[in-house]
Amino acid sequence: QNSHSVTVIGLGPMGRAMAAAYLDRGYAVTVWNRTASRAEELVNKGAVLAAGPEEAIAANEVVVLSLTDYDAVHGILDAVDPAVFKGRVIVNLSSDTPERAREGAAWLAERGAVQLTGGVLVPPSGVGDPESATFYSGPLETFEAHRETLSVITGKTDHRGEDPGLAALYYQLNMVMFWTALSGYWQALAVAGAHGISAAELLPYAHGALDLGRFLDFYAPRVDAGNHAGDVDRLTMGLASTEHVLHTVTDAGVDGTLPAAVVELFRRGVEAGRGGDSSSSLVEVLRKP
Ligand code: NDP
Repeated sequence: QNSHSVTVIGLGPMGRAMAAAYLDRGYAVTVWNRTASRAEELVNKGAVLAAGPEEAIAANEVVVLSLTDYDAVHGILDAVDPAVFKGRVIVNLSSDTPERAREGAAWLAERGAVQLTGGVLVPPSGVGDPESATFYSGPLETFEAHRETLSVITGKTDHRGEDPGLAALYYQLNMVMFWTALSGYWQALAVAGAHGISAAELLPYAHGALDLGRFLDFYAPRVDAGNHAGDVDRLTMGLASTEHVLHTVTDAGVDGTLPAAVVELFRRGVEAGRGGDSSSSLVEVLRKP
C-alpha cells in the first residue's frame, strides 16, 4: 500500500486537472478513460495508462472517479470483476443525486470497497488550489486516513457526515443556488445588451447586485425561527417588483420565461395569504408544491 499513488478514472476536464495535480505533487498516477486519447498529455508527464478499468482499479488502493454521472460510473464499473474492488477506497467525485450516491456506496460495499462521495466546488482551474474546497461524505475513518491524498484535489476538504448521500446533497444545494443566480446574470446581460450596455459596463453593478451576503445573514436565523414578519419587506411589494422586472425584460424584446416564473412564485405566495409577510415566506410556499 503506497499512500503516494492514486488511480484516476475519467479524464474529462476535471479528471485531467486532478491527475495533473497528483503528478505535480509527485504521486504515482494510473489513469484510464473510455476515450484513450485524452490520457496522452498525462502519459507524457509520467502517468501510466491502464489497459482497462479493471487494471486501473487494481493498481491502487485509492481510486478517484471523475465521470459525468452515476450512469457513466456504472457503465464502467458493472463490467469489472467484483473481486477487484475488495479493500479499495473509491473517491467518487461524479455528480448526481444524493440517492444515486447512496446506491453507489451500497453497491461498492457489497464488493468490499468503501465509497467516499465527493462534490468538488471549483472548475478545473481551481483543482490543485489550497483555497478550493470539496464536500465529502462516507466513513469518517476512511476520510481521515486519506485526507492528505484528498487534499491534493482541493486544499480544503469538508466532511459533511457518514451518510454517503450528504456530499451529493450539499453539492446539489450549492448548485441550486449557483445555477439560479447565474441564470439571473445571463438574463440581466441579455436585457443590458438589448439596450447597448455591454457586460463590461454592467460588471461593477453585477458585483453589487449578486453580493447577497448581508441578505443571507439577515434571513437565515429568521427562517430557522419561522419568522417571516413583513417588517423589512412584504411579498406584495415583491410581487409588484418582480412584475416590473418581467415587463422591463419583455419590453426589451428579451425572453421572459425566467422572470415570469419568478412572478408566478410570488403570486402563489400572495394567493396563499402571505402578502403581508416577508418574501422569505416563499420558503414555506415552496415546501408545499
Ligand atoms: P465530463 O462530463 O466532461 O467528463 C467526464 C468523463 O466521463 C469523461 O472522461 C467521459 O469519457 C466519461 N464518461 C461519460 N459517460 C461515460 C460512459 N457512459 N462510459 C464511460 N465513460 C463515460 O465531466 P467533467 O470532467 O467536466 O466533470 C466531471 C464531474 O465533475 C462531473 O460529474 C461534473 O458534474 C463535476 N464537476 C465539474 C465541474 C466543471 O467545471 N467541469 C466543476 C465541479 C464538478 P470520454 O472522455 O470517453 O467521453
